[in-house]
Amino acid sequence: MSTSVGCKDGASKSNDNVVCEVNEKLQNMSTADMSTHDVSVCANCGKEGNSNEISNMCNKCKQVKYCNAACKKQHRHKHKKQCEEYVSLAAQRVAELHDEELFKQPPPAEDCPICFQRLPIVTHLLRGSRYMTCCGKTICSGCMCAPVYDNQGNEVAGKKCPFCRTPAPTTENETIKREKKRVELNDPFAIYNFGVRYFNPQGFAQDYTKALELWHRAGELGYAKAYNNIGCAYEKGEGVKLDKKRAIHHYELAAMGGDAHARYNLGFLEKYEGNVGRALKHFMISTRDGYTDSLEQIKQAYLTGHATKECYTKALQVYQEYLGEIKSIQRDKAAAISEHYRYY
Ligand SMILES: [Zn+2]
Ligand SMILES: [Zn+2]
Ligand SMILES: [Zn+2]
Ligand SMILES: [Zn+2]
Repeated sequence: MSTSVGCKDGASKSNDNVVCEVNEKLQNMSTADMSTHDVSVCANCGKEGNSNEISNMCNKCKQVKYCNAACKKQHRHKHKKQCEEYVSLAAQRVAELHDEELFKQPPPAEDCPICFQRLPIVTHLLRGSRYMTCCGKTICSGCMCAPVYDNQGNEVAGKKCPFCRTPAPTTENETIKREKKRVELNDPFAIYNFGVRYFNPQGFAQDYTKALELWHRAGELGYAKAYNNIGCAYEKGEGVKLDKKRAIHHYELAAMGGDAHARYNLGFLEKYEGNVGRALKHFMISTRDGYTDSLEQIKQAYLTGHATKECYTKALQVYQEYLGEIKSIQRDKAAAISEHYRYY
């Protein structure tokens, strides 16, 4: 089964659109040295006029103008090399701007709404927090396990949401019903999770198209991990046609939105392309967000001579910073009760 889901976020941009954007950017960069008075010069015959008279622009680089189509045609051969240079310069600048955005440390993950401490990262081994289908809050393991007291100071027995006090759902059907309500409220995590239910499938009949649609919606609403799932689908060709470019595009969206797993995936892909520097940058950013596999990658790179000692030392240091933000006595207590609450 294969489907192609339209991507509103630019994966399918045509080259023309890219060149247009490039030119916009170039024009913004060069407005300072472009004279503000309205005089243009034909690149072929040298005739001067206002921008209405000299308006026939090179379609490719959009950097030179002509008085008419004849001049443009005559100049084509002469202009060819310069035109290519303009286009490649613009592409280079766009790539630089893109990298500037890509390699920024994303804002930290949200705080637990009860203890106001940063939520630990959730990986395949760690479950330091839990999403509540009642109120849509994600609550840290420490607060999940903390005893709840009533107004008289007596401990309240039974499983209740520590945030809104709604009793926990007792059946899978009830869970799905609650999730559905959250989906209708545009809750990005619930929407993402519905996508997972369709993709894997869990509780629903498998439907890749629906899953991808839901993940796109969750991603647009700010749940970055949803883009990572889309990236994985494209990388493996699972439910969609294998498409490495689209995989990377979605990993990048996820990584910029703060998903450390996606950033690890990007680092891994760069590593196998031989781009050690870019790989290490991704691993460093995701280590700062608590992704231990990334820290391990940096360690290995150091041990095999691909990363400097400073790089590894910095990685250890930023990981400690992360731990400083997520560690708490309450969370440690929870982790001591059950492996399920291990959070780092
Ligand atoms: Zn001319
Ligand atoms: Zn040109
Ligand atoms: Zn908490
Ligand atoms: Zn709740």
